[in-house]
Amino acid sequence: MNHQVIDMHVHSNKSDGRESVAEVFAAAAAAGVSTLALTDHDTTSGWPEARELAAKHRIGFVPGIEVTTRARVIDANGQERRFGVHMLAYLPDPNNAALAAALAESVQSREVRLREIVAKIANHFDVSWADVEAELTEGATAGRPAVADALIARGHFINRGEVFEKVLYKGGPYYVPNRGVPETKAAIRLIREAGGVPVIAHPMARGGGPKPGEPFPVDHFEDMIAEGLAGFEVYHRDVAPEVREWLLGLATKHDLVITGSSDYHGATGKPNLLGENTTSPEMLERILDQGQGSVPLLFD
Ligand code: AMP
Ligand code: FE
Ligand code: FE
Ligand code: ZN
Repeated sequence: MNHQVIDMHVHSNKSDGRESVAEVFAAAAAAGVSTLALTDHDTTSGWPEARELAAKHRIGFVPGIEVTTRARVIDANGQERRFGVHMLAYLPDPNNAALAAALAESVQSREVRLREIVAKIANHFDVSWADVEAELTEGATAGRPAVADALIARGHFINRGEVFEKVLYKGGPYYVPNRGVPETKAAIRLIREAGGVPVIAHPMARGGGPKPGEPFPVDHFEDMIAEGLAGFEVYHRDVAPEVREWLLGLATKHDLVITGSSDYHGATGKPNLLGENTTSPEMLERILDQGQGSVPLLFD
């Protein structure tokens, strides 16, 4: 195959995707994806099934995780700022004790946090924790999309996008931050020590970049690079053009990997379509060279 479609960020219902791993691979085959990284939030539980399905469909499979982390940075005014950073981890060893323990803790604290969010929402909408649990596949990582699905099932809203816009948005009255997750630089070290390749998912997405006139947070990024960050997911629908341009410059300066991906969450989870952004074969090769903790399945 000379035109490769390499999609390095895809979710199933092992976290907040709306489709099973089997449905995701069937959709990937239909979309002409040639290599797919399954990157569910804070879990590797989809990998065994993904490997089998990849073999069946003759689609390349790169084991991945989207690791929830929380950054702590001191801004230009000396103020401490904390914010979430999603860190893609390619090819880590799923049995690495430190990484597995950190992921287990994140999964647990996500549930505690989600119960808090649901308790707040239940003051204003007819919805319960049982409704949310009903939207989660057995063993899936819990996240706000399951709350959205529960509110949709109750008939309060039409789709996840509407629920995020009206109820679940960051900083809103029902929002609770994810406190029990690893600090970002610690997560980078954990991933590297497990043989994995850490790549920031959708950096500064959805208007998260500097406001006009403000500088880019170069120190924050160079600190992560010093810890072993491998690269950035530049080509993602939520990363703005000026942010992409800045990231490409930084990647060139530090000789880092750049990727592109869909962040697919199922046909009805998000508008993101499989293969809508892709990673070059050269960049995939660099990730494969650095990833030592698990084994990809590749076809030529
Ligand atoms: P959480 O992991 O609980 O913080 O929830 C964040 C997840 O919600 C992200 O990984 C996205 O998959 C999903 N999400 C965020 N915004 C939206 C949106 N507008 N529409 C659909 N899903 C969203
Ligand atoms: Fe998600
Ligand atoms: Fe993400
Ligand atoms: Zn994602």
